[in-house]
Order: sequence, then C-alpha cells, then structure tokens
Amino acid sequence: MRPEFMLHVLSILVNRSLRSSRVHNYAARYQDNCASQTRRETAPARFKMASDCIFCNIISGKHPNELIYEDEELVIFKDIKPAAEHHYLAVTKRHIKNVNELTTNDKELVEKLMEVGKRVLQELGADVNDLRMGFHVPPFNSISHLHLHLITPTTGMGFLSRRIFQPNTWWFATAEYILANLKKPSHI
Ligand SMILES: [Zn+2]
Ligand SMILES: [Zn+2]
Repeated sequence: MRPEFMLHVLSILVNRSLRSSRVHNYAARYQDNCASQTRRETAPARFKMASDCIFCNIISGKHPNELIYEDEELVIFKDIKPAAEHHYLAVTKRHIKNVNELTTNDKELVEKLMEVGKRVLQELGADVNDLRMGFHVPPFNSISHLHLHLITPTTGMGFLSRRIFQPNTWWFATAEYILANLKKPSHI
C-alpha cells in the first residue's frame, strides 16, 4: 500500500467523529432553512447532484452517514443491510444513474472504484481473496445512483444475499464484466 494512500485512509478514520458532527450541523441547518439558495451555498457544487437522491445527499453531507473513505471522485460507506461481515458501497460523486450510463470514457472511474474499494477493505483487515464485487443491473437497482457493492467473505453470505448478489445474472453483474463490456460513447 502506498504510504500517502494509507495516510489518507488513516486521516479519514481519525476525522470520522469530526465529520459526523459537521454532518449533523449541516442537517440542522437544512431543517432550519429549507430555501434552495442555502442548500446551494452549503453543499459542494462541483458535481451535478439530484436533490431527491439519497446517495447525492450523503455525498453533500445533507444526509448524515459515516464515510470510510472519500476523495474527489468517490466515497465509500457501509451498506445499510450488510450481506456479510464486510459489505461496503463505493459510490461515484457524479450522479450516474446505473451501469447503462457508463461508457468507455468511464473505464478509469470503474477501475478506481474497484481498486480503492479493495485497498480500503484490506486496510480494514477484510479478506479480499473471497470478495464479491459488482453492480446492480437495471431495473434491479435499489438506489438509482451508481454504486459498486464490495462484499466479503462471500462464504459468510446467507441464502437470500447469495441470490441478490449472484454474479452475472440479469440482476447483478460483476465489476469485471461491466468493465469488459463498456459501450462506446454516442456522439450526439
Ligand atoms: Zn445521486
Ligand atoms: Zn445496491
């Protein structure tokens, strides 16, 4: 692991409590003042966000959530209904609806979700040799904001979770499959 990456993860872990209190402050401010202008001033405006999207709201700090990792392009947090001991979501800051919106232009972004996801798992002491990594296939998205599921150990998954996150079915595709099948961008 590169030292600067380790430092980055460490600083996020150390600052967790700091961030969550900041997030709560945001939440309080939103409750006090629901004018959209206030929202625009306090939420990071670098990415196009959908105001009714729960993941966009987590990224902007409007919806409190504990982030395990954050950089300029992605965040990682725990799945609300973990299917195994370690179950995290690597989420793009850009509001991409689902895998159907991805093109070859997003190859590096998908690779980054996978690579950073794996490194964060390793940092947390999870077994990355028994890792399920994939995306929902539309219309089977629980949330319409692209997120990579990272689940380990797969041997610890229950019957239903095995079905929900069953690789390369018509409802769930592995990250490798998505990466190998990115379509060319349309030039309209
Ligand atoms: Zn979103
Ligand atoms: Zn999901």
